[in-house]
Amino acid sequence: MTRIGWAAIGAVSVLTVAVAGCSSSDSGSSADSALAAGSALAAQIDQQQLIGHLEQLEAIAADNDGNRASGTSGYDASVDYVVRMLTDAGFDVQTPEFEFDQFIWGNQTLSADGTDIPVEALQFSPATPDGGLLAPLVVGAPDALGCTAEEWGDADLTGAVALVTRGTCEFSQKARVAAERGAVALLIANNDDGIVDGTLGGKDNSPIPVGGISRESGNELRAQVPGSVDLTLDTQTTTSQSRNVIAQTSTGSTDNVVVVGAHLDGVPEGAGINDNGSGVAAVLETARRLGGDPDVTNAVRFAFWGAEELGLFGSEKYVESLSEDELLQIALYLNYDMVGSPNAGYLTYDGDDSDRVGAPAGPEGSAAVERISEIGLLEAGVSPNGTDFDGRSDYAPFVSAGIPAGGVFSGADDRKTDVQAELWGGEANEPFDPNYHTAQDTLENIDRDALLRHSRAAAFSVGAFAHSVEGPNGVPVGDARVEARATQ
Ligand SMILES: [Zn+2]
Repeated sequence: MTRIGWAAIGAVSVLTVAVAGCSSSDSGSSADSALAAGSALAAQIDQQQLIGHLEQLEAIAADNDGNRASGTSGYDASVDYVVRMLTDAGFDVQTPEFEFDQFIWGNQTLSADGTDIPVEALQFSPATPDGGLLAPLVVGAPDALGCTAEEWGDADLTGAVALVTRGTCEFSQKARVAAERGAVALLIANNDDGIVDGTLGGKDNSPIPVGGISRESGNELRAQVPGSVDLTLDTQTTTSQSRNVIAQTSTGSTDNVVVVGAHLDGVPEGAGINDNGSGVAAVLETARRLGGDPDVTNAVRFAFWGAEELGLFGSEKYVESLSEDELLQIALYLNYDMVGSPNAGYLTYDGDDSDRVGAPAGPEGSAAVERISEIGLLEAGVSPNGTDFDGRSDYAPFVSAGIPAGGVFSGADDRKTDVQAELWGGEANEPFDPNYHTAQDTLENIDRDALLRHSRAAAFSVGAFAHSVEGPNGVPVGDARVEARATQ
């Protein structure tokens, strides 16, 4: 990794501060002045301030059983800290509560005629009664899907365990149909390799336990009818509450809101300083530098998500809570989740799928978000690589809602390649963060240079888009946005 670029960058930033605020009424083309506005905000990001936030989060974990996990006093103290920092910076801060269901898989067994058959409860499946279920097995026609009552013909499902095949309709519909016909549980055989691994979508979507089995096991069971099965699915669904932290500038158009987020919760194993204290520090310091009433064209909304580690619940519930109009007001979403990895990578979410790896391109505009993120890292003195838009962080609910998204990332448990080690230094074929989700994810193990470069790239993107979301580095606006979201 070059360190030379850094010095050059410093010089350039000082220059741009003198020229541009963040509103697009300034002279010169909107695209150029957007870049200048990005540079101006990036230059204000100070490493010591970032480290200061991490020190506070680490102290919070130390005072709260060593972690800042969702549902703990460590998380609540993290919320209080972020709220205080944002309020001091002139923001009107909200901490909206949300409720989410967590599903716990316990003991799962299935046997027929003394033969054990691998089975997995579908997510949110009710549990079988204590001691399990011993009941006759009823199967429909070969490959019956069980989507309608008619499909069962005159079969008597009363008190039986029913067996159907995956396909065509939702798992929960198959379960409700079988239950209406008197079944006490449902088994769903796969129509592909492996055991069915799916969800019922919510805790109230099936009145009976539902287990997934493989295609082969389905055929084995069909060959044993008439017969009975012994099914045990020990499962539990708990409903929990948590909070997000939301703060929006009082200035800037609310027709093109730039949303910037980082999850605030950590895993129970440790303080969660890289995952995701680093992203919190980057977003919090950007918010503090921007202030609550900046001279911007577009309003900026800062979000600190709860319960990300449990399943992206904070961002998901937030997106779900917005009306169609409120979703349309959001121009784009910037996500920062791990930006201080010890074996650091300089990655941008591959919004245009130019790497042709894994997930497809993001919603229209994601290419521009990636481009601005790349420029932010280049200005910070490093050459970026793409990383798959794999949905493993809080951009996923926004992408699902058709909102263009992106951001920068320093890597988690994936391994740095030889080429990347050439490019950035560090260890080839070693994880970007060997401390991922462990007690070793501490301030001591943060790459402070990577933290600064990524945080400046984050601030660059915020400054640029707060200035303008239009032009060659822009996203759909107005009618084009309505159309783009409609076709999503
Ligand atoms: Zn994370």
